[in-house]
Amino acid sequence: MKGNPGGAGVMIRFDGVHKEYADGTVAVNELSFDVTEGELCVLVGPSGCGKTTTMRLVNRLTEPTRGAVFLDGQDVGGIDAVQLRRRIGYVIQHGGLFPHRTVADNVGTVPSLLGWDRQRIRSRVGELLELVGLDPALHARRYPHELSGGQRQRVGVARALGADPVVLLMDEPFSAVDPVARKRLQAEFLRLQAEVGRTVLFVTHDIDEAIHLGDRVAVFSQGGKLEQLDTPASVLGAPASEFVADFVGTDRGVKRLDVTPIDPSDLDAVGPAGPTPPSSLTVPATASLGAAMSAILSADSGRVGVKDGNGAVIGTLGADGVHRQLRRSVRDGAAPVSTPRVPPN
Ligand code: ADP
Ligand code: MG
Repeated sequence: MKGNPGGAGVMIRFDGVHKEYADGTVAVNELSFDVTEGELCVLVGPSGCGKTTTMRLVNRLTEPTRGAVFLDGQDVGGIDAVQLRRRIGYVIQHGGLFPHRTVADNVGTVPSLLGWDRQRIRSRVGELLELVGLDPALHARRYPHELSGGQRQRVGVARALGADPVVLLMDEPFSAVDPVARKRLQAEFLRLQAEVGRTVLFVTHDIDEAIHLGDRVAVFSQGGKLEQLDTPASVLGAPASEFVADFVGTDRGVKRLDVTPIDPSDLDAVGPAGPTPPSSLTVPATASLGAAMSAILSADSGRVGVKDGNGAVIGTLGADGVHRQLRRSVRDGAAPVSTPRVPPN
């Protein structure tokens, strides 16, 4: 029987999941959390903290010692592993492509396993390559070694989306490419996710990537311990433990600017101290505090106008206002860590 144990909208549920390997290593420690349908949830933590193991529990490449993982309300332990994996896209580092198969054959892997006819596979492959920003006419017949690292990752994502999976698992998909290609892949992936809106479990060891991509971020420490699960702004603004505060870094205040939106209800008045539009710098009310701060630092007056959707200036912000809004945005009840941290070398 199908039915979400945790109410509507839960796509993946970890329920008291524990994984101890045969040698006694605890990789996942009594883990319980839910991933909502359509959510991009990022698991982040240092190497060896159990991220990959956690992810592989979802598609049964690993079995839990105790506890259960539910996919759309069903205990995955009760679903045939092959059937299960056809409903779940899986992307790994380097793309994990079959080296002796063309791009088209790689992307068409699951549709052909599902017995689709050739014409349907071919059109689906073309559609998927375009979705990830590759020209089918140019790339479909190539082999993986004839692609750049970034292109291979795109093919990996296209393949994972092959048969319209309900969930995408992505294990450090962009870690092996250079920083410039990586930024581009991240931006493209956010665009793609806005289009397809899949439930995504994304693993990275890079806190910046986690903050940039995640709707929510799950921070793990060694021994598979979930330290905090929250929005990027809250993880940065109110780290739940010393470990999280260390892991997000001493520059977490700066990082928070980019993930905290302007609060249009808390602007300073347009006045003598403010800019005289339209000659002065303005930012849209939908911008982040980071975008506002960047403009403030470039403005002679140290102050910018904030404009609404119609272009009307509804207030102003200076560095003091950004500071005030940033402090206010820390979620109630979560105590910010105020101890100054020594940066790791
Ligand atoms: P991460 O992906 O965060 O780097 P992993 O999930 O790969 O972490 O590993 C978590 C811990 O479990 C590590 O200590 C690792 O050495 C251990 N581990 C992973 N796979 C196995 C295995 N098959 N047998 C024994 N220990 C394992
Ligand atoms: Mg890993």
